[in-house]
Amino acid sequence: QKAIGIMTSGGDAPGMNASVRAVVRTAIYKGCRAYAIMEGYEGLVRGGPEYIKEFTWDDVRGWSSLGGTDIGTARCMEFKERKGRLKGAQHMIEAGIDALIVCGGDGSLTGADLYRSEWPSLLQELLEEGRISQEQYDRYKHLNICGIVGSIDNDMSTTDATIGAYSALDRILKAIDYVEATANSHSRAFVVEVMGRNCGWLALLAGISTSADYILIPEKPSSSREWEEQMSSIVTKHRQRGKRTTIVIVAEGAITSDLEPITSKDVHKILSGKLGLDTRITTLGHVQRGGSPVAYDRILATLQGVEAVNAVLDSTPDTPSPLIAVNENKIVRKSLVESVKLTKSVADAIKEKDFKKAMSLRDTEFIE
Ligand code: ATP
Repeated sequence: QKAIGIMTSGGDAPGMNASVRAVVRTAIYKGCRAYAIMEGYEGLVRGGPEYIKEFTWDDVRGWSSLGGTDIGTARCMEFKERKGRLKGAQHMIEAGIDALIVCGGDGSLTGADLYRSEWPSLLQELLEEGRISQEQYDRYKHLNICGIVGSIDNDMSTTDATIGAYSALDRILKAIDYVEATANSHSRAFVVEVMGRNCGWLALLAGISTSADYILIPEKPSSSREWEEQMSSIVTKHRQRGKRTTIVIVAEGAITSDLEPITSKDVHKILSGKLGLDTRITTLGHVQRGGSPVAYDRILATLQGVEAVNAVLDSTPDTPSPLIAVNENKIVRKSLVESVKLTKSVADAIKEKDFKKAMSLRDTEFIE
């Protein structure tokens, strides 16, 4: 009987609980044992029954509609070091975990990819130091690992949507609708800062959905002068047409073409100082992550959880480690290594100021 472990890692995202539920129940349905690794990679590094817990069918009852992640998540510095990953490998083997499913963002899946590539040498070291037996070495020498993308940022290449992104977008739209009402009453301008790390997806889609006056995202930067002038002229034109509200959305990773950060305060300075508008800043913060997942995230998490278990059960030492993606509405398996590489190349393209390449890698050319 195989043992399949599931962990949630990195920033929490609505829908992570639904994916844990799907993995646990599919594993049990397929005759396997299911284990929850508590607190992300931290749970692997610490090990033991408190952090690597067997889950039953009933343990995940009702989890589809729960926000956040009930098995905990953490940012684990120790796992970034080889020593931490070595402990993680030993604890996984001690618990008898045959396959690991990681639900997290690009950082977590980069960690998963590194773990996979390092696994043979980690096991060799554990064997040489007598921390595992030859029998354990032989049984676990191939790391069966699979990624599911759970992140509100929607910043992973090769998948159209990450679990949690549409829920976060929904929270942002609601917040902006509320702000719009008060802005209209006082004829005010609002600068709304949204999450997304160095990805502009949430800001862009929120801007389109709320008909914002101006949107600042990392993938389409311009010089300080250009964006200030463009925004001022658009906002002025809208005001001249009788609009009583001004909404400018700033992605938290917004930058100029010189890679200088653009902050809400920078935008406030223009709207208030240059255009003379009564301007307020609203930083949405963690409310964007909160609450129940929207239908799309529950469905995506469930279908991908099922597919992740199928993928680890199909896996052989020769199959590349998979990442479960959604492409054109189909749940598909992609190579984890390639997806991590492609995602990193977006960040590299931005660093190299090749913004056209960054946009095409993000599939956001449509904003041109
Ligand atoms: P989100 O998209 O919500 O920010 P994330 O998965 O990208 O989530 P990170 O904080 O980047 O979040 O990563 C989560 C954890 O994954 C880290 O705390 C660390 O334990 C592990 N991790 C990230 N990058 C690496 C890496 N290069 N090597 C090893 N482990 C890593």
